[in-house]
Amino acid sequence: MKIYAVVNQKGGVGKTTSVINIGAYLASSGHRVLIVDMDPQSNATSGLGFDKSEISRSTYDLLLQAADIDELLVKYDESGLNLLPANPDLAGAEVELVNEMAREYRLKRALEQAEGRFDYVLIDCPPSLSLLTINALTAARDGVLVPVQCEYLALEGLSQLTQTLEMVRRYLNDRLEIRGMMMTMYDSRTNLSRQVVEEVRSHFPGKVFRTIIPRNVRLSEAPSYGQPINLYAPSSPGAMAYKVLTAELLKGDGDSVKAKEQ
Ligand code: ADP
Ligand code: MG
Repeated sequence: MKIYAVVNQKGGVGKTTSVINIGAYLASSGHRVLIVDMDPQSNATSGLGFDKSEISRSTYDLLLQAADIDELLVKYDESGLNLLPANPDLAGAEVELVNEMAREYRLKRALEQAEGRFDYVLIDCPPSLSLLTINALTAARDGVLVPVQCEYLALEGLSQLTQTLEMVRRYLNDRLEIRGMMMTMYDSRTNLSRQVVEEVRSHFPGKVFRTIIPRNVRLSEAPSYGQPINLYAPSSPGAMAYKVLTAELLKGDGDSVKAKEQ
């Protein structure tokens, strides 16, 4: 079971979009997938069509009430895509965790219950380097996926992120590494997008996925239909890109056979 956190403390860079769509392509290629929504805004939960106000037990209960994952696990469809949903309670978790024992390890411990039941766990992080994100980084034994938006000042914030990763690696999770950076919302009409990709590649050699995610309106529409892109608009450029990116991830994970089957 691989566990990846999708992290970047900047908001709006494509974390949730990447979690939902990579998760969906992993599932459609025969993998059992668990998406963990660790953002109080609950966008992964609502983007998969669940009404967060109707979610009674959420990742909050996992972190603070020692809930069993089966009490909150929801199945998206028959493809093998599953979700541990968030709800607004999670906003309080940050403060409540501060005085708890083993506060950084709560998610890691909870996910031990998922061992052997899933092939991939993808954790969607909030746009901060808060205790919720630290829990995700501590649990992410196979590393992090970092979406980077192709825009001005894309590199800003990445040094703070790498410092945080370094601290977590030192004290909480010695296996933590950058599994890959994903360039998102690429606009082929602008020089800026191209320059940003080059700049990030030169700062993080060998760390950036070859596949680039274009800016594509279908990707932004899909969440309002509660569908991943492989269901909402499977032949759109955004869908193609996430499909190829997922194959690239699988290939790097040594799963080239299943990657070919997609
Ligand atoms: P984050 O989780 O990092 O805050 P999101 O994945 O929610 O970012 O993306 C921010 C917004 O941009 C959302 O409205 C989303 O639908 C949209 N979006 C994300 N990726 C793309 C893309 N490649 N093309 C167009 N819109 C996108
Ligand atoms: Mg998000």
